[in-house]
Amino acid sequence: MKGRKILMIPGPVEFTPEVLQAMGLPTTSHLAPNFMDVFGQALERLREVFIAPSGQPFIIAGSGTLAMEMAAANLVEPGDRVLVVNTGLFGDRFVAILERHGAEVTQVTAPVGDVPSLEQVDAALQKGPFKLMTVTHVDTSTGVITDIRNLAHLGRKYDTLVVVDGVCSVAGEELRQDEWGIDLTLTASQKALGVPPGLAIVVAGPRAMEVFRRRKTPVRSFYADWTNWLPIMEAYEARQPAYFGTPPVNLIWALNVSLEQILAEGLDNRFARHRRISAAFKAGVTAIGLQLVPVSLEKAAHTLTTIYYPEGIDARLLPLISEAGAIVASGRHPVIKERYFRVGHMGAVTGADVLVTVGAIEWALARSGYRFDVGAGVAAAERVLAE
Ligand code: PMP
Repeated sequence: MKGRKILMIPGPVEFTPEVLQAMGLPTTSHLAPNFMDVFGQALERLREVFIAPSGQPFIIAGSGTLAMEMAAANLVEPGDRVLVVNTGLFGDRFVAILERHGAEVTQVTAPVGDVPSLEQVDAALQKGPFKLMTVTHVDTSTGVITDIRNLAHLGRKYDTLVVVDGVCSVAGEELRQDEWGIDLTLTASQKALGVPPGLAIVVAGPRAMEVFRRRKTPVRSFYADWTNWLPIMEAYEARQPAYFGTPPVNLIWALNVSLEQILAEGLDNRFARHRRISAAFKAGVTAIGLQLVPVSLEKAAHTLTTIYYPEGIDARLLPLISEAGAIVASGRHPVIKERYFRVGHMGAVTGADVLVTVGAIEWALARSGYRFDVGAGVAAAERVLAE
C-alpha cells in the first residue's frame, strides 16, 4: 500500500514537485543578491498573473485574512461607508474586518447558494456614496462565483473603489484586474496560485494607491501599513536591499517558481483547464444524483464544488472518501454546515485527480447504503474530460 491520498480540499491544494523543491532549498539571507532577483521577479510576475500592468503588488508573510485586513486597513478611515457584496462566510469576515477599521458597512446579500443580482447591487450603490465595495470572487463556503466584470463596472459607474477577494479564484478563475476596472485584488498562496500556505498577496491599482496616499489618519495596523511595505516592495523590484519585516524567503522562492509555471501554461489555458476540470467533476457528482449548493451552474465556481449529502447521509461519509484515497472538506457555511461537503480542484489538479475523487465518493456512498448506478459518476466525468 502506498498510503498516499490526494488532497482535494479548497486549499491548501497539491503543489508541483518544483514548487516543493524550492521550499526545501537552503534558506538564503533575505538581502542576498539572488534572493533580491527572486523577490523582484515574483513581484513582476504577479502583475502578469493578476493581469494588472498598472498594479502595485505586495507579498507579505501571512494568510489570506491578512490580505483582507491589508485592504481594509490601508483604504478605510473611521466613518467611511463601505458596501459588502456578501455571498457567504468570507463576506461576513470582510464585514468584521472593515468594521474593526472603523467602516460603516452596508451589505447586499442573497440566499445561501445564490449571489446578489446586479440590479440589487446597483440599487444599493445608488444609496451611496460608498468609498469602496468589496466582492468575494469565489466564496469558498458556498462555492458560488460572482460576476466580477459587471460588478466592477458598477463600481466605476458610482466612482466607488472595487476590492476583490480573490483568495479562491486568482490564477484559477478568469480575472482581469486592469481591463475590468478592479482597484485591488487580494489572495493567498495556498490555493490556485499553487504555493504552500503563508503568503498574503495584494495587487493595488493606481486609484487605490491614491486613496491610500491621501489618507488623513494613520493606518490603524502597524504590520499591515503600506507606509512600511511600499518602500520594501519598490526596493526589491529595483533589486535593492531593504528591510521592514523578515520575508518568508523559501515561500517567496516557491512563489516565483509557481508563477513561472502559471505563466508558462498561459493564463487563458489555465482558466480553461479549471473550467474543464470543474465541468467534469460536477458532471460526475450530479450523474449519481447529488445536488450542488449553487443554485445554477452559471453561479458555481470552477475552483471548488460544494455538494449536499443525499438523504440519509451525513459527514460520516468524509472519512470513507478519505479511506478510498481522496481527502475532501466538510461544510463551512453556518446555515448548511452539516448538510454538505466541499471538494477543491484548483492549481496543478489533473483530470486523473477528478476521476480518483469521483470514484472515491462513489465507493464511500455505496458503502454508506446510498443506492445509485455505481460507476455512472466516473463515466460522466470521463466523458467530459474526453471531449
Ligand atoms: N477569502 C476566501 C474567499 C477564502 O476562501 C479564504 C480561505 N479559505 C479566506 C478569505 C481567508 O484566507 P486564509 O484562510 O488564508 O486566512
